[in-house]
Amino acid sequence: MATGKLIIFSAPSGSGKTTIVKELLKIFPQFEFSISATSRQPRGQEQNGVDYFFLSQEEFRTKVQADEFVEWEEVYNGTCYGTLKSEMERIWGKGNVIIFDVDVMGGINLKRIFGEAACSMFIMPPSVEELRRRLEGRGTDSAETIEKRVAKADFEISKSGEFDYVVVNDVLEDAIAKARRIIENFLA
Ligand code: ADP
Repeated sequence: MATGKLIIFSAPSGSGKTTIVKELLKIFPQFEFSISATSRQPRGQEQNGVDYFFLSQEEFRTKVQADEFVEWEEVYNGTCYGTLKSEMERIWGKGNVIIFDVDVMGGINLKRIFGEAACSMFIMPPSVEELRRRLEGRGTDSAETIEKRVAKADFEISKSGEFDYVVVNDVLEDAIAKARRIIENFLA
């Protein structure tokens, strides 16, 4: 199997992870997203092979038994998410660096598995109040969803110490610059 490096980004929803990663992708052309597999149904505009590899419960189970996952987890109501070995091989085969945009537990698992080959970064909001303001400002979630995301944030923040680096996203440009320096050091 081809091997290479991976960079993991995790954060409470609304911290600005997507915004930061998008900017980093412009700076580092060798970065490529790992597409996760999931057993849930596609939502809205989501496309198979773009947002996720959408598998039936049955297909997911079969791949688990065939040892085709690097790691996987069952979230709630039986929905599974995981990283396929084939996806990592595809990206490393091209000589690219794999970018993971994953939930906090997924990020911790991947770091544990890949050790020195992985750089894990936790994007931290300046405060939970600011996190709420950003989620409200983004305008993509219902009030109920925002409450759920905020409620989850305390737990997620409590796990931030398990990441290699914590980048506080207060002033966006500063956070991007800090993440950029961390990545340049890691890749050097
Ligand atoms: P995530 O991917 O972590 O859920 P987003 O990247 O969607 O978060 O950012 C959440 C909202 O906060 C977006 O509306 C984004 O434009 C805004 N945002 C991101 N970074 C900052 C920042 N440093 N200061 C203020 N607003 C920000």
